[in-house]
Amino acid sequence: MSDASNRPAAQEASDRPDASDQRDASNQLDATNTPRAADTDASTVPDGGSRVGAVEGKPDAVLRVDDLQKSFGGLTATDHATFEVERGTITGLIGPNGAGKSTLFNLISGFYEPDGGTVTVNGADVTGMEPYEVAEHGLIRTFQTPRKLEGMTVREAMLVGPRNQPGESFITLFTSPSTVAESEAANLSEAERILEEFEIDHLATQPATDISGGQMKLVELARAMLAEPEVLLLDEPVAGVNPTLAKKLKTQIRRLHREGTTFVLIEHDMEFVMDLADPIIVLDQGSVLTEGTPEAVRDDERVISAYLGGGA
Ligand code: ADP
Ligand code: MG
Repeated sequence: MSDASNRPAAQEASDRPDASDQRDASNQLDATNTPRAADTDASTVPDGGSRVGAVEGKPDAVLRVDDLQKSFGGLTATDHATFEVERGTITGLIGPNGAGKSTLFNLISGFYEPDGGTVTVNGADVTGMEPYEVAEHGLIRTFQTPRKLEGMTVREAMLVGPRNQPGESFITLFTSPSTVAESEAANLSEAERILEEFEIDHLATQPATDISGGQMKLVELARAMLAEPEVLLLDEPVAGVNPTLAKKLKTQIRRLHREGTTFVLIEHDMEFVMDLADPIIVLDQGSVLTEGTPEAVRDDERVISAYLGGGA
């Protein structure tokens, strides 16, 4: 008999309007393996026309972005964006300046509220949630421009910084008020460990404003790791970072990836992203243009012309 009958109902099954059919009873051992057709590339968004260029129906998508929309005044920054990120990947997100990459991160991580569409993390609909709530579901992001952390040391920034940013308090997840002291002690030793791993423990007592942009990026990544996210969104981690530090960052990303973190990586440095990421999703004018291997994306005429057009 089919083992699908005694499988616990997958949480996402009830969240997804299209999950009621297409079950493949031959492979239901993994409850996280969402039963969807494997060949849905050709699916279209009702009013999104043929703009769906992403590979959908991934077997174990830890992140799903479905028909996401965001406008600022008359400007459409996110235009029916639809894609999935498979657990255990380093997925690249590239596209010309202004394509809407950072906006997408803001929408996914709860810093912006979408005008339409849904974001699903680990099977849970997190659309419209606060950043700390999205973080509780396992997703954390870093910022293209690290926040200024004045008046504190690197170590303090690691521990205190995120909590002291109202509206951006993605590490509120560490703390309910009653457990602040407890979790601070735990965080302190964990912070030390991560600073060591990142080989920046010698910076721990430096004022956080005295370190280089590249070092700040490392601190950002280290800080994000404190939250032990399952999914980490990195927004241009090597922008303005010198080659030595960029190499260090790459090593850390690879290590964390080996340990199980799923990454979505926005990066302008093509060599960096092509070296680390597979697959790569290409965004253009707020929509997914295509998705593929680094090689396929690099050779894709549409991608080349999107970059040449500068998104104009
Ligand atoms: P990318 O990260 O791909 O360079 P962004 O997501 O930063 O692109 O921006 C996409 C578009 O949305 C741009 O035209 C940008 O000016 C606009 N945009 C982004 N955030 C805001 C905002 N908070 N207010 C108004 N316009 C915004
Ligand atoms: Mg950006």
